Amino acid sequence: MPIDRTFRETWRIVKDHKGHPVWHSPTNETTEIHGHIVGVDFSLCYGCEKCILACPTHVFEQMQDESGRKVVDPVREDDCILCLVCEIVCPIEAIIIEREGGSDDTLDSLLEGKRG
Ligand code: SF4
Ligand code: SF4
Repeated sequence: MPIDRTFRETWRIVKDHKGHPVWHSPTNETTEIHGHIVGVDFSLCYGCEKCILACPTHVFEQMQDESGRKVVDPVREDDCILCLVCEIVCPIEAIIIEREGGSDDTLDSLLEGKRG
């Protein structure tokens, strides 16, 4: 099952981790999503590092979760340029990038640059 795309509306923030929120599912307290702009589901991620290698702005860092599993953490999510490459390369859809406004804003600013 892929990451819950509605987590920003339906999950609750339980703590802060390295400057980004950590969310718990309403139905499963052990499932965690890290990040707000860049959400990574820790129960799905298995640390393959494809997103680390693909991200042009080095948003991700590998870490171990509480049970010692390898996962990736969006520690620099503020640097995300909303290119969506990490979503595309993740083999198990463990990442979701915030859509509302964001992608359109990026496209707009790129177009502005071209016009200028
Ligand atoms: S959307 Fe692009 S910039 Fe943002 S975390 Fe993913 S790969 Fe990195
Ligand atoms: S590509 Fe997906 S499974 Fe691989 S480390 Fe990144 S989030 Fe985890």
